[in-house]
Amino acid sequence: MSEKKQKLTEISELGEFGLIKHITKDIKINHKNTIKGVGDDAAVIDYGDVCSVVTTDLLVEGIHFNLIYTPLKHLGYKAVVVNLSDVYAMNAIPKQITVSIALSKKFAIEHVEQIYEGIKLACDKYNVDLVGGDTTSSLTGLAISITAIGEAKKENIAYRSTANKNDVVCVTGDLGAAYMGLQLLEREKEIFKTNPGINPSLEGYDYILQRQLKPEARKDVIEILKELNIKPTSMIDISDGLSSEIFHICDKSDVGCKIFQDKIPVDQNTEKMAEEFNIDPLTAALNGGEDYELLFTIDIKDLEKIKDHAMIHPIGHVTGKEHGAVMITNGGQSVALQAQGWNQMKKE
Ligand code: ADP
Ligand code: MG
Repeated sequence: MSEKKQKLTEISELGEFGLIKHITKDIKINHKNTIKGVGDDAAVIDYGDVCSVVTTDLLVEGIHFNLIYTPLKHLGYKAVVVNLSDVYAMNAIPKQITVSIALSKKFAIEHVEQIYEGIKLACDKYNVDLVGGDTTSSLTGLAISITAIGEAKKENIAYRSTANKNDVVCVTGDLGAAYMGLQLLEREKEIFKTNPGINPSLEGYDYILQRQLKPEARKDVIEILKELNIKPTSMIDISDGLSSEIFHICDKSDVGCKIFQDKIPVDQNTEKMAEEFNIDPLTAALNGGEDYELLFTIDIKDLEKIKDHAMIHPIGHVTGKEHGAVMITNGGQSVALQAQGWNQMKKE
């Protein structure tokens, strides 16, 4: 790197999303069967009868996980699940993964075995084959990168860019729990650091801890949508908080959106923890991360079909772009949603 005279720009000037946009803006697609490149949860490659979808996520020690409170087996499991979530978000079925790891000297063979126990458990549960990867050393800490490959018929693939005005906006499960789980783990870590004699008090917090340490991908929702004969008009998985994902759909689909605060699903365990921390549970749902639920839009004619499904919640509807992305609060006010998310690289 010759940096003598050239003025360099800090990555924090652009943030994560800005950086991705910047580095991918003039990428050329040379193959006709690359029908989706950068810009969705997964790329899509058209093979005639079926399409392949491909997605990668990289988890880095100290950034995405802290080994003080993350069991290695859980880490392996989660590293698979976060990728499968992106495959399901395309309305596709994951079939294969590759796993690449970088290991520093502090890791023994037994540690790597534990990571792989988790990886294999997730492969069994989600019926995917581990078909390769790469192994290398690292100067500091652990990194795991997983690539997942899935399959879907071309006409069934759900993109971020195809939501239509008046569609119903739906989310699955509940939001904000993984974020509250992380807050709890961080609190207990700090207590333990100053007072190593005190055991962490994690009892009674199973739900939020499980949501943080051992998340699941919404395979079940993809199966239900198929059974109900619903093709979402657009879809994304919720990895960076509801607000941020709504923004991606609105941005890519060129639409606006109105959601209602009282419709946003938050579990009572999340509410309880939020109260203890003096955090608004709504903030955890909108701007927390790692829920791995699905956010999707459906044609209004399909609304009737989902009404008996307790895990699918209509939370609003798609509007014209000129209205922006707004939330109607319980007090009836209209507030603009903020696209914060986990934009770790951006200056505060
Ligand atoms: P997700 O949260 O669904 O994993 P990301 O926000 O990580 O998606 O990425 C958004 C899009 O940018 C995806 O299509 C992804 O493949 C692409 N992308 C991210 N980083 C890079 C990179 N370094 N080079 C090329 N494409 C990238
Ligand atoms: Mg995603």
